[in-house]
Amino acid sequence: MFKSFLLSLLLFCVFLSAPSAASGTHDYSFKVSRGDAFYKFFFSTGLSGKLLSKLMSSDERAQKLNNIYPGDKFRIILNDSHELAQIIYSPVNDSPLFITYDGRSFSYLKKGIQPTAELSYTTVTINKSLNYDAKKAGVDAAVIKMMVDNFSWEMDFSRDLRKGDKFVLSWDGEKTPGAMIYIGNRKTIALFSYKNALDQKKYFTSKGATLNDSFAFAPAKYNRISSSFTKRRFHPTLKIYRSHRGTDFAAPTGTPIYAPAKGVVKYKATLSGYGNVIYLQHGTDYVTVYAHLSKFAKGLKSGKKIKKSELIGYVGTTGQSTGPHLHYEIRINGVHQDAEKIKLPKQSFVPSSAMPKFQKRARKILQDLDIG
Ligand SMILES: [Zn+2]
Repeated sequence: MFKSFLLSLLLFCVFLSAPSAASGTHDYSFKVSRGDAFYKFFFSTGLSGKLLSKLMSSDERAQKLNNIYPGDKFRIILNDSHELAQIIYSPVNDSPLFITYDGRSFSYLKKGIQPTAELSYTTVTINKSLNYDAKKAGVDAAVIKMMVDNFSWEMDFSRDLRKGDKFVLSWDGEKTPGAMIYIGNRKTIALFSYKNALDQKKYFTSKGATLNDSFAFAPAKYNRISSSFTKRRFHPTLKIYRSHRGTDFAAPTGTPIYAPAKGVVKYKATLSGYGNVIYLQHGTDYVTVYAHLSKFAKGLKSGKKIKKSELIGYVGTTGQSTGPHLHYEIRINGVHQDAEKIKLPKQSFVPSSAMPKFQKRARKILQDLDIG
């Protein structure tokens, strides 16, 4: 919005600074103040009420002239016979409207200026938090959630976000942005929308991939599933019935455990029940848990970013455990899921046939914003 305002202003200034039309013509410029009405400007140039009626009934676009706002600008240009030649209406928030009169009829033209002028941008500069600052910038809650859902795959909002970091959203007339770009001190993450054949809109990097990962089924090479997810089972050590809200993969002590998808180490601890345990956060919604480990991977600590298939620890039998196995849990928004049954999200890609157009658009947006 702001950008298109600047462009229309720029265009307006170009016109102002252009040499005044040929001698003998009359070029009147007006700026709208509170309480102004278009007819006042019109009559001040000596034009008739009859012509004004003709103008107003010529096209529904003429109604824009009845809805003018302080700051809007007009030029009314008359020919050397003192007859109307052109009206240029430059609203503050829109591109200029050109109305030309040939002595008989009116023709209308809305100058598109440049194709990029149809895009508008919202910039959110982080001062407190994304939620707070985006709301302040007029971004609605659903879009903020979408931003967090997407960017969380690559950044930890509680640790990585700094004062002064920016999020830029580009708009092309839809409810959700055409692009979402994070500009931080150390990195930039740019995501561009693409709609698949089913008209589902998702966000992709300029390489055409979504930020979310596809999950591997098992985080370790295992011999068998020794205990499946169940709501209620007899616990062999505690001698009581309790639910088993995970999947046990039987494997020898020391078997390496690899992250099934990229994420962040949320928690690493030694607990009486779980023994050595790791919690990984993947995006906003997913947490995976690895328990009874014999050892953690070297350098593993809370907050560390983990790549898919990165070593995180080794199978063991620490805590309340009857033998070497990996107790593995998947939680979605805090709810335990059955790893053997749950359908996890997959990374998606822009089809290669659509890539040239997709990348052209991405480049244009980045150029517009002077990044990339
Ligand atoms: Zn278990």
